[in-house]
Amino acid sequence: MQGCRTRSAYLLAGQSAGFVFSYGIRCGTSQRFRCGKTVMSTTRTISTVRVNGSRWLSCPPSKKLLVSKAIPPQEIRCALWKRFSSTLPTITTQENTLAVVKEDGNMLEIHWSEGGKSQFNSTWLRHQCHCEQCKQLGSGQMLVNPSSLPPLLSIKSALAVNKSVTITWAEDGHTGQIPLGYLQDNAVTDFSLFESIQSSSPDPLEHIPEVDYGDLIRDKREILRWMSDISSSGISIVRGTPVKPGTVGDIAELIAPVQNTIYGHVFQVRNSPNPINAAYSTAELPLHTDLVYYESPPGLQLLHCISCNDNIIGGESTFRDGFHAAEELRQLYPDDFSTLVRMAATFQKIHYERERPVHMRYYRPHIVINSLGCITAINWSPPFEGPLKIPASEIDAYYMAYTKFAKLIEDSPRKIQFRLKPGDAVVFNNRRILHGRREFKLCEDTDRFLEGCYINIDEFKSQLMVYHSMYGTDKQFNFKRVSNQDFYH
Ligand SMILES: [Zn+2]
Repeated sequence: MQGCRTRSAYLLAGQSAGFVFSYGIRCGTSQRFRCGKTVMSTTRTISTVRVNGSRWLSCPPSKKLLVSKAIPPQEIRCALWKRFSSTLPTITTQENTLAVVKEDGNMLEIHWSEGGKSQFNSTWLRHQCHCEQCKQLGSGQMLVNPSSLPPLLSIKSALAVNKSVTITWAEDGHTGQIPLGYLQDNAVTDFSLFESIQSSSPDPLEHIPEVDYGDLIRDKREILRWMSDISSSGISIVRGTPVKPGTVGDIAELIAPVQNTIYGHVFQVRNSPNPINAAYSTAELPLHTDLVYYESPPGLQLLHCISCNDNIIGGESTFRDGFHAAEELRQLYPDDFSTLVRMAATFQKIHYERERPVHMRYYRPHIVINSLGCITAINWSPPFEGPLKIPASEIDAYYMAYTKFAKLIEDSPRKIQFRLKPGDAVVFNNRRILHGRREFKLCEDTDRFLEGCYINIDEFKSQLMVYHSMYGTDKQFNFKRVSNQDFYH
């Protein structure tokens, strides 16, 4: 082995230990060479080297070859390797960011200029190609049909230049670019994956955050704060909204379009003589989530108070964090928790005596978890339960578990209860926060009038990401689980 000269590119050919090229301040004579970081080991053989993008130098493995001329490192591309063992066929570099091809071309390792490194599967990279042939400018949609690609692809060469890495894949001969920023954003390790799933568990509901309607209208950053609160706490109150019908739709539109349901675009929660829903009476409403008989229950619910006199007796709104209740159940009664995760409850809305008859039934568990056991949704709606359809041997266990969960929901000190005032609008995640109200008595000249509507959960999540990108200050948004059944968030 030969020594190295500062800021020169060297090709060092060894007879039995393979060879290495390296550049930098100082190279050692051991099996590993350094340029700020370890770039490669010396257990492979190069047979040709490309210098300055055009010239090919032949490098017989049996001879030592020293390129003593100073060559910018990014201009060096090793092209063809004779392998002694499984290390590096290609090494390329742009300033301090290095792209190193490893494992017979099956993996690309990026050494970031700010430190650290990430590894990317070669086939995964082919599917992320950002070249104009593969990805449509503007829409960002993929133009290449993944099934038209070989199932597995390896990397022939890679070069990190100008904030992107240019890769040539061996099997289809395709050359394309991927922005380094994109790779940085989407780098995943098994550990980081686990960490992100764990940390996305929402905080238990301690108090209800508030925001002023005027601030929301004036300042987009307030809308971001509002949506972030809804994401982390599951609930928020908007104060100072106009006290007139229709306002709830305007508030919703600050986030996303109103979601239509069998109760219409905007629904009126007001005592009525022949209610199509118990909510439209004075009866108590136990804590519940809405419309669980839909395949996709509404994500956010808004309730806007238009009228509620002080001399109405009762009628307080109640809320309970369903994720917290389920975590309590898991801790106190793990077997019952498991039963409510495994067994489907029956939810239904079957009602023919209404303008447009409805016949909906849906089977789903009360508690939904992902593969790591994180709770991703709560389905709890006692007034809309239908006939249980589970194995006979499980029925007793189901009802035992059901009763325990119901107690943890309704009899909890964590249950929040307060009276909405005219001009208040409460917004909450319908798949996490259970809501209800106490029975109330109307006296003469009193009215309790709320208007409500829903927002699709994915559109809320989308708008939160958009606002975070446009008005946020943190680089990374710590996404709390929004309960849209996304596997990770
Ligand atoms: Zn491409």
